[in-house]
Amino acid sequence: MPSASTATGFTLDTGLENISGVGPRQAFLLAARGLTRVEDLLSYLPFRYEDRSRICRIQELRPGESATVMAQVRSFRLLHTRGGMQIGRLRAADDSGELECVWYHAAWLRDRFQTGQWLALYGKPEPEGLFWRMNQPEFQLLHHSPDSVPDSLKLGRIVPIYESLGELSSGRLRLAIARALRALPPSLPEILPAPFIERLHLPTRRAAFEQVHFPAAGVSLELLQAARTPGHLRLILEELFFLQTGLEIKRQRALRQPGIPLLPSPEIRERLRRLLPFRPTADQKQAMREIVADLGGGRPMRRLLQGDVGSGKTIVALQAAVMAIGNGYQAALMAPTQILAEQHFMNAHRLLPGYRLALVTSAARRSRSAPEPELVIGTQALLENRARLRRLALVIVDEQHRFGVLQRLQLMRQGEQTPHVLVMTATPIPRTLALAFYGDLDTSLLRLRPPGRLPIRTRIVPRGREAEMYEFVRRQLAAGRQAYVVCPVIEESEKLDLVPALDMERRLRALFPEFQIGLLHGRLASEEKSAVMQAFQRGKLHLLVSTTVIEVGVDVPNATVMVIHQAERFGIAQLHQLRGRVGRPQPRSSGARRAFCFLVPGEEITPAARQRLAVVEASEDGFELAEMDLKLRGPGEFFGTRQSGLPEFAIAQPLRDQELLEVAHSEARAWWRQAGQEEKRRLLEIVRARWQRNYGLVEVG
Ligand code: ADP
Ligand code: MG
Repeated sequence: MPSASTATGFTLDTGLENISGVGPRQAFLLAARGLTRVEDLLSYLPFRYEDRSRICRIQELRPGESATVMAQVRSFRLLHTRGGMQIGRLRAADDSGELECVWYHAAWLRDRFQTGQWLALYGKPEPEGLFWRMNQPEFQLLHHSPDSVPDSLKLGRIVPIYESLGELSSGRLRLAIARALRALPPSLPEILPAPFIERLHLPTRRAAFEQVHFPAAGVSLELLQAARTPGHLRLILEELFFLQTGLEIKRQRALRQPGIPLLPSPEIRERLRRLLPFRPTADQKQAMREIVADLGGGRPMRRLLQGDVGSGKTIVALQAAVMAIGNGYQAALMAPTQILAEQHFMNAHRLLPGYRLALVTSAARRSRSAPEPELVIGTQALLENRARLRRLALVIVDEQHRFGVLQRLQLMRQGEQTPHVLVMTATPIPRTLALAFYGDLDTSLLRLRPPGRLPIRTRIVPRGREAEMYEFVRRQLAAGRQAYVVCPVIEESEKLDLVPALDMERRLRALFPEFQIGLLHGRLASEEKSAVMQAFQRGKLHLLVSTTVIEVGVDVPNATVMVIHQAERFGIAQLHQLRGRVGRPQPRSSGARRAFCFLVPGEEITPAARQRLAVVEASEDGFELAEMDLKLRGPGEFFGTRQSGLPEFAIAQPLRDQELLEVAHSEARAWWRQAGQEEKRRLLEIVRARWQRNYGLVEVG
């Protein structure tokens, strides 16, 4: 891109409304998507490129091969169809042949073309009788007869294609970006450390923006599509470098804060032993050792406890809580749903007799007069109640991926001193993503499953064999086992369509008159939910029809069958979580030998969905499944876009850019450690501004 005129004072921070041609309405639409500054717009990269650089004479066109031609208008007509549509029909020619072009909905082309005028046209030609025809070609009016390729944004070159933003089409975005680039000064201040730039041979910022938006002729289309041109590498690394620098700063700050000393006195060790109803696995022991070391290490713990569904994270977390309580402090455990919070509460009640526990959910708020609790368990509602958490020394967050990074930081700020933080997650996060998002946490891993878990046999139920499956379920129920039947609900805006779940309940009541059947769904009041869950837990209900509210965490060892209807509606990770509800470790006396999971596909299942189910059928390893899931669906879907709590990336894609993430991680760490005061100040300023803008976090360290 030539930088023709340089408006004075135009920088990457300039507001988009200052780009010529971007009106208030466009600026408003862009702002609604979070694009307000020139840099935001330039960071909106093409999602693909089209090579329109093949320019030829009409005679040289080849069927089906897109190309650009220069031709002179012979005639143009607007035809009205009966349906009221207008079709534009253009005849154009060069000295080698003739071309017909057709546009639908072509009212906008009225008075566009004059006979004799030169045009550049790009499209896919098909032979039509004696001449060629292009449907809906791109075109550009030329002012002179062409003796060279026109300097065009959309023809005769590799053209960037943008995902349109509402009304803003790819073409309009392209124009705005070109104008922004033109208005920027020829060189932009460098923000990455010079040695980093040199070692990796990265282009300047300005060159990078130009390369990714308007690649020069001859740049490999393959590298462009894969986002691996030097320009792409530069912008991706830049984004990741400042994310990683921010995480490193946070880590270093945390290391400097005093940690509340929680030491394992002999009495506490005795309490910890009494807490365990079973022998801990080697991984649980190791995790506990790491936690004990953190808690007494003089600095606030920042630890991620990662373990597959059923790997026994809860007991480790409760042990950590006992460390806090035994030292005269409070602990808090935050769960993402009310059911899960209640589950934890019941568990804690069983495992920690004699301790002062409190449950805080929006449904069950603790009464003011209750004695100061030692362990507070709850949903996000416990964030609002900080007055009674003055002696908070430990925060445990369950199922972290459902909370935002923000909430995690908010929790860390409860209490009078900086508490220790233990984050538990059952979603096995691939290493590189853990690096990206939890770079400021240390990790403990529970790989081994506790003994006593039943192996789970998973089967996709072929069409027409559902009745057979339910006969099997009947035999399990008759043998004293319990079963879950998951039936996804359709969620339309605010409304839940419960009809399928209600139908299923009715059907199963008719099918199993001899058994008690319960229904659990999101529309039930919280007391009703708890009542149903407790009835199932106590064995008063044999079969539980449920929407996905049992997705995480519930623990009923006697349940050995999981039936998932319309299983293709769930992601791999979700199916794995659901399946993890059965096969829980058995009490010694029980004779069960196996648990079962049936995946019942819906009527219309795509090949991709079938593949997902096959993956779940074939593997029970959460980490393997997570990697597969991530590969098949991408990180946004994988974590569920809205509740992911992951920082949004403008340019980088953590999965695609794994190796760049590692480069950025080690470079950022190394650079920050050896940077002088001046450089640290400079980086901190950039990181603050970027984090604030991109992740909405004010406080970096
Ligand atoms: P997670 O939260 O990791 O999904 P839980 O902590 O709920 O797993 O543990 C799953 C089940 O395994 C619970 O019923 C728990 O009592 C049991 N359990 C945990 N650790 C052990 C162990 N070392 N030996 C036997 N059972 C265990
Ligand atoms: Mg759990």
